[in-house]
Amino acid sequence: MLKGRIIFSMDEEIPQHVLLKISGYFHGIKIGYPLLLRKGIEGVKEILRKLEVDEIIMDLKLADIDNTMINIVKQLDFANSFIAHSFIGIDGALGELKNFLDNEGKKLYLLASMSHKGWNDEFYPYIKTVIKSLNPYGIVAPATKPNVLRIVRDDFPNKIIISPGVGAQGGKIGDALCNGADYEIIGRTIYTSSDPENKVKEIIKIQEEKINECKKTST
Ligand code: C5P
Repeated sequence: MLKGRIIFSMDEEIPQHVLLKISGYFHGIKIGYPLLLRKGIEGVKEILRKLEVDEIIMDLKLADIDNTMINIVKQLDFANSFIAHSFIGIDGALGELKNFLDNEGKKLYLLASMSHKGWNDEFYPYIKTVIKSLNPYGIVAPATKPNVLRIVRDDFPNKIIISPGVGAQGGKIGDALCNGADYEIIGRTIYTSSDPENKVKEIIKIQEEKINECKKTST
């Protein structure tokens, strides 16, 4: 099955038979508080049991001291990757979390910026220094702010960048890929569709067209 550059943000439960049909098109699935609180850890594990995705990303936007964050991630052993805020800093927080995850063979993504209007990107120079010195596996940067996304890509040419804000929050499908993202995080556009399978196929087609278009204009 042709995979799109999609990380499905499963903030709502969708019927298992639909999920089984569409999950093969995703690189990964991102799970956050909404589904975790509704279904519990065992419920989420059950939902994920039969799916074939390369990466399960736990998006709790961790922002606490080391011990608390490590305690949290220990309980979520089904996940391959975790997202944390950068602004909490390294000593006593992200440094110890990253060591723990490295030892477990798990990945850490740091937030460079958020997709909503109220996020203040004036703090980006500080956030950039945290990301530079921690050297996480990947970075989250918003599709809704193409300029910020391009700056993050320029600053971190070799990092995996995953980008939310596509669809429901206004970003156009494929644009984040042209602006430097490796994967687009897409939630509501898929799970609120009356025909999620066709919606996913449509998204993959648009992503491919956009990638080809932007490759042409950059050569
Ligand atoms: O439904 P939608 O496609 O807007 O889902 C986007 C997902 O990405 C949500 O789970 C949201 O919490 C998350 N996210 C975001 N902005 C960030 C990081 C994560 O919208 N900077």
